[in-house]
Amino acid sequence: MSTHRQSAPIPLDVCITVDMEPDCPPYLWTWRGMEEGAPRLLDLFASEGVKTTCFITGDSARHSPDVAARVVVDGHELASHGMTHRPFPALDRNDARGEIAESAKVLREFGEIVSFRAPNLMFPAEYLGLLEDEGFALDSSQAKYKAKHFSPDGPTRLTRIPASVTSSVLRLPAFIRDRWLSRLRGPVVLFCHPWEYVDWRNTNLRLDCRFRTGDPALSDMQAVIRLFRSRGARFRRMRDLLPAGAAA
Ligand SMILES: [Zn+2]
Repeated sequence: MSTHRQSAPIPLDVCITVDMEPDCPPYLWTWRGMEEGAPRLLDLFASEGVKTTCFITGDSARHSPDVAARVVVDGHELASHGMTHRPFPALDRNDARGEIAESAKVLREFGEIVSFRAPNLMFPAEYLGLLEDEGFALDSSQAKYKAKHFSPDGPTRLTRIPASVTSSVLRLPAFIRDRWLSRLRGPVVLFCHPWEYVDWRNTNLRLDCRFRTGDPALSDMQAVIRLFRSRGARFRRMRDLLPAGAAA
């Protein structure tokens, strides 16, 4: 039976995610992003009324406990980005388990933790069980733009939601960026890093780490939020996308 009744369009779900870590790893291991960039970014989210998911390394939470605490107080989701930002493909099973368990222990001092993203969006499928063992419900370690690491879900209870575009896309000129973003289908998962909101333009960092960093990056993020809002998007935390009961 067919119907001609037009249903209301489903709003696009957009998750802004922040990978909180030392500055531009593995090129720098300083903390200007956590100390200077993160507070500016959280101020922007507060003034725009947007709730996000902040994947933070255990080391970063230890270095900047004020930032981790503010993430929770401001109503964002605090989530795990591992302990030390070592890439999981280089770790044996014991070390991988240690990274996950130690970060969960440190971060759970701040609140409930159910979501995970591996550093560099590289997470071997055979380690998914380690996340289940530690009580995680959601993994965002895959990337739609990295075919090599986009493997089928496999036997896992985790909800897997990949990142949609790489972080430096948000800092491209608006006419390129907006066309790129408008092609994305939901849920749209964007990500950025606190160190992008520190000005590295006059350094010799790798180009994609330094172009339009600092103030321009902050106004780019504001423009991206307003672009999606003008299209009726809903800003969700990643855990809000879990099937009912999955994070119990
Ligand atoms: Zn990272």
